[in-house]
Amino acid sequence: MVTIKSDHEVQLMREAGQILAKVHMELSKEVRPGMSTWELDQICEKLIRSHGCIPSFKGYEGFPASACISVNDEVVHGIPDKHRYLQEGDIVSVDTGVIWKGWQSDAARTHAVGKISKEAQDLIDRTRESFFAGIQAAVAGGHVNDIGRAIEDYIIPYGYGIVEDLVGHGIGRDMHEEPEVPNFTCKRKGIRLQKNMTIAVEPMINMGTWQVREAENGWTYVSADGSLSAHYENTILITDGQPEVLSLLPEEKKLYHVN
Ligand code: MG
Repeated sequence: MVTIKSDHEVQLMREAGQILAKVHMELSKEVRPGMSTWELDQICEKLIRSHGCIPSFKGYEGFPASACISVNDEVVHGIPDKHRYLQEGDIVSVDTGVIWKGWQSDAARTHAVGKISKEAQDLIDRTRESFFAGIQAAVAGGHVNDIGRAIEDYIIPYGYGIVEDLVGHGIGRDMHEEPEVPNFTCKRKGIRLQKNMTIAVEPMINMGTWQVREAENGWTYVSADGSLSAHYENTILITDGQPEVLSLLPEEKKLYHVN
């Protein structure tokens, strides 16, 4: 079911989003070569709880950690591991969510570990930029699949692959609500967007093929050709004008010229 939030519910989701934005900002300062992905998850969980929130990923469909931590060719749903150490030159995606007073927020960032190649940095930057291109189309009266078309229009000239097996989603009391929010062009328009809908927009972009496969652990998706993959996600609020990005800090919104 697609849910329309009341102004009070929107306010709680805004608060959840601001906490999650702070968690991501604090986590970005912790990423360094030599740490394990388990260690990064431990820091993430402590940060979430220090803000009085529940880590929404922990136990979700049996997921064992507070963050999905995906390294290099891992697209999403990487499982934190005590024996998986980040190395200089890696890229690492951290996807995590919080529950605040019963309301959810979901966001992901991809970070450089130490010094990375220009090609890897470009992938991270273009992936983030494709999110901002996509949400230009996230306006009341438009259709949800306009967002994916805008993301695809932005990404295609770079020759990257857009992951199609996984998509964004509505969000509210539940982490995954309707509608689905694809990051690519669909023949269908999808539902009409309305004020006070809240959705998570999350382009997953591979340097090579768009195709992915599931890893042996049954959770993690990796790019089918082993190429690097980046992920960028925020929870947004549909308004009559430009959407409000709930999971970005005021200074980040200023930097990216969004509401
Ligand atoms: Mg999500």
